[in-house]
Amino acid sequence: MACEVQLVAQTPAPERVVASAAKLCYSPSRASDIFLGPGDESVVFFLKKLRSIGHLSPFEHASFTFAVDGLSRVASHQLVRHRLASFSQQSQRYVKMTSAAAVTPPSVSALPEAKDIFERQLSSAMDAYGRLIALGIPKEDARFILPHGAETSLMLTMNARELHHFFSLRLCRRAQWEIRDLARKILALAHKAAPALFEPSGPSCLTQGRCAEAQSCGRPFSSMEEILSEDS
Ligand SMILES: Cc1cc2nc3c(=O)[nH]c(=O)nc-3n(C[C@H](O)[C@H](O)[C@H](O)COP(=O)(O)OP(=O)(O)OC[C@H]3O[C@@H](n4cnc5c(N)ncnc54)[C@H](O)[C@@H]3O)c2cc1C
Repeated sequence: MACEVQLVAQTPAPERVVASAAKLCYSPSRASDIFLGPGDESVVFFLKKLRSIGHLSPFEHASFTFAVDGLSRVASHQLVRHRLASFSQQSQRYVKMTSAAAVTPPSVSALPEAKDIFERQLSSAMDAYGRLIALGIPKEDARFILPHGAETSLMLTMNARELHHFFSLRLCRRAQWEIRDLARKILALAHKAAPALFEPSGPSCLTQGRCAEAQSCGRPFSSMEEILSEDS
């Protein structure tokens, strides 16, 4: 099963917050007087200008919080390397794992023999976990037998600057498929909530017209639609 992502909270009027903060940098006005009103056409102008000159700190004023379910611990381990984000993850120390819920990679699902091996091993691990718990082994110790692919739930908050950075790394075709799938879902939600903040966003082939990887995949993205319509 692919992960599910919901946007559960965000800075109100995020585009105007970022544009107003930027405008203040270049204006003699008082901070309290500068807030741009709804429909102010200079919002898009300021956001584009900031991106073009690399003045990205105003993007830190807008934050987005996402609820993520059904992600593997393989992917969550990669996700939490993003140090400027905030995370709260369901604990295997306090929460007893009750089902054999684990993410099955598409390559495994596609091959019946591989799927059979995968499911047997998963079932065996979950059975052993249950028997260890029944013997009184604490959850924090029994969890050592759980698979790396076990599903997890987490909440994450990133500001718009960190989201752009996250997308630049994790929407690259060379990133791992599950975190790419997560990044795509987060981008779709963030873009819907604040299009001008995230237009465009993605790997450097799209946003800068050049590949930042040592080894290019040779297939640069030409639009956000292309990124968002990809399958894992
Ligand atoms: C395709 C791919 C393959 C990877 N493979 C591996 C691997 O094999 N092994 C591995 O260990 N990791 C791997 N990673 C993880 C990678 O090394 C980073 O830890 C991860 O992508 C987070 O990136 P970041 O540090 O730029 O992001 P964030 O932690 O979100 O930081 C954002 C930016 O803030 C700045 N920053 C944050 N913290 C500091 C700090 N302490 N000091 C100075 N500047 C800071 C940096 O400019 C940084 O780019 C891989 C990542 C990708 C995308």
